[in-house]
Amino acid sequence: LGIPSVPTKLADRRVSRKIQVGSVAVGGDAPVSVQSMTTTRTSDIGATLQQIAELTASGCQIVRVACPTQDDADALATIARKSQIPVIADIHFQPKYVFAAIDAGCAAVRVNPGNIKQFDDKVKEIAKAASAAGTPIRIGVNAGSLDARLLKKYGKATPEALVESALWEASLFEEHGFRDIKISVKHNDPVVMVNAYRQLAAACDYPLHLGVTEAGPAFQGTIKSAVAFGALLSEGIGDTIRVSLSAPPVEEIKVGMQILESLNLKQRRLEIVSCPSCGRAQVDVYKLAEEVTAGLDGMEVPLRVAVMGCVVNGPGEAREADLGVASGNGKGQIFVKGEVIKTVPESKIVETLIDEAMKIAEQMEKDGVAS
Ligand code: SF4
Repeated sequence: LGIPSVPTKLADRRVSRKIQVGSVAVGGDAPVSVQSMTTTRTSDIGATLQQIAELTASGCQIVRVACPTQDDADALATIARKSQIPVIADIHFQPKYVFAAIDAGCAAVRVNPGNIKQFDDKVKEIAKAASAAGTPIRIGVNAGSLDARLLKKYGKATPEALVESALWEASLFEEHGFRDIKISVKHNDPVVMVNAYRQLAAACDYPLHLGVTEAGPAFQGTIKSAVAFGALLSEGIGDTIRVSLSAPPVEEIKVGMQILESLNLKQRRLEIVSCPSCGRAQVDVYKLAEEVTAGLDGMEVPLRVAVMGCVVNGPGEAREADLGVASGNGKGQIFVKGEVIKTVPESKIVETLIDEAMKIAEQMEKDGVAS
């Protein structure tokens, strides 16, 4: 009998059109990308570029900037030119800024049809300008600013209302031969949001930008986003994601990357497999896990490190990992690639794990395994 293979992914990706957001492909066979949005005044070019640089360093692939005023619109050209990652201008209310963003060389423009008065009349001109510049448009429908017509028709922001709004706007662009589009239908309730994206995914082939809007402070927003994105991505739905948190944007990127890594949609980096501890623990697992995590912070190679409190699951998990410790009797058995390489006193566990991790990481980098 052969050993059954372990599945590495949950579903095939939904087949979507591929569009190009600056240097980043979205949809088709392109990897799911992670986005965030700056919190600075866009007109403060220095502060905005500084935040974009921090986001870029943390793994952000596409960044969105708000454009509520003419000063912000005037800043777009410099920001788009100097940013290392594609910049999307986020436009509500004022169609004139859509044209300004296209002229400024933004990689894409997000429009919220529910918030732009007489948007339908402007679509022809927007499609013409975006087409000429090769600028994709994100139709970003949001439960909080749903088109008044649909709000009246459905009574509230139901999945059907969100999807109808998005597809209506897309159809207006299509009338002018413009299909360089991605769509989002965000809602703060993961159940409504998941149902909306499922319906949208079945109704069109546009790439989809996933988001739980106004997801809340870091803890709640992380859970809501992980649950909703997990449900959709596990069905192959979603081409780019933004985790919305009431927290610094770099936190959104960390959460987004972790969601994709958890689903094997992005190569895993450092992964700490640590037990929750229990009455059998013979070391302080929390402290040990925290110290090992801190000691290996920033490591980019896909290293799996097991930190286990006792011998019940310890040796098994430690053996499955690249590196691990199974603790007991004031000592730690250190495993590397499934073999016990040494037993050290408890006080030496952390430094030994970090030393060994560095050696393995160096070898991985030499072998070209780094992510
Ligand atoms: Fe408890 Fe040991 Fe399992 Fe940790 S590995 S949770 S200490 S039984």
